[in-house]
Amino acid sequence: MNPVLSVKNLSVAFGFDKKGKPRDGVTPLQVTDRVSFDIFPGEFFALVGESGCGKSVTAMSVLRLLPQPSAQIVDGSVLYNAAAVEIAETVESSVADSKNASVDLAKLPLAELQKVRGSEIACIFQEPMQALNPVVTIKKQLLEVFKFSAPCKSQKSARLSPERHSQSSFSCHSRLDRESPLALIREQLALAGFKDIDRVLESYPHELSGGMLQRICIVMALLSKPKLIIADEPTTALDVTVQAQVLAVLKEMASRTGTAVLLITHNMGIVSQYADRVAVMYAGRIVETGAVRDVIDRPLHPYTQGLLAAIPENHSDMRTMKSIPGSVPHPRDFVKGCRFADRCEKCTSASAEIREKCKSSQEPPCVAAEKSATHTASCFLL
Ligand code: SF4
Repeated sequence: MNPVLSVKNLSVAFGFDKKGKPRDGVTPLQVTDRVSFDIFPGEFFALVGESGCGKSVTAMSVLRLLPQPSAQIVDGSVLYNAAAVEIAETVESSVADSKNASVDLAKLPLAELQKVRGSEIACIFQEPMQALNPVVTIKKQLLEVFKFSAPCKSQKSARLSPERHSQSSFSCHSRLDRESPLALIREQLALAGFKDIDRVLESYPHELSGGMLQRICIVMALLSKPKLIIADEPTTALDVTVQAQVLAVLKEMASRTGTAVLLITHNMGIVSQYADRVAVMYAGRIVETGAVRDVIDRPLHPYTQGLLAAIPENHSDMRTMKSIPGSVPHPRDFVKGCRFADRCEKCTSASAEIREKCKSSQEPPCVAAEKSATHTASCFLL
């Protein structure tokens, strides 16, 4: 199966001016370092790590939503599969590869990228109150999705062969053609667990709770049937009591439509409960990746082991709760070698030879686990 999104060696730096040159002659700060991962159709993929590890920067670079002109993708590619058949007709061969049905979102002209945003890849942000317009009713905001969705390809199909039209997954909104937008919205709201749909539709955002608003954002993201949803810590701003409900709605609704989800979170509990695969990020690099069960049951990297040990359990109290000493370094202090070395307890108890490597400028190699070739981590101990 081809991945719907393939991020390859993505490096992002901050500190550029309008001409793409370093601002004030100061070397830009590189915050992510050759980040690579694939997301397959229908998969729930989690990117996990502490604040400041580069998770959100990586996720927002997919649709180039980082502040401009300061943030730039300095290396790597973001290959998106589903849109290629249509977009490949209009852009240069360096950006789109029609043979492999992929298009590089990192290089796509902004006008073309705009067709992908929302229609092909949708976003759910942390704060639903800020994502919605406070002076417009929910009904009007949901209906706006249809106004700004990419045009139905059946309108364009006259210039596409039937074979290519059926291949084209670029928002052929066949259901939108058949059904009234409002009927579809009602159906989706019911699936998201809303009972009093008429009242919800006529409400303004301030009249609904945070959990309800986030479920509306999920409905809004799924209305145009995207191939991928990027959910950037969608439950961080919500009460603990509704977090599980919102994630369950996201998982259920995405799996019904076969939509893949890229979930950004710092919560290993959420990862273990909802994700299929996970990538653990530390200081701008992916340090471990694999199927959730492999990573949770047999974590390879000391950082992943630390994150798992820090999950509070029912019987734990403040005196026995574990934590990882220290904090994530600032990007200006990123080193070439292992960036976790200053906080790594395993390094302290390792042999002199390993300790020397850990403190050197040598980057730890990426090694596969014995029992699973898809479970990998970067550490000298492996
Ligand atoms: S390479 Fe060394 S310092 Fe880095 S995580 Fe592994 S043991 Fe720890």
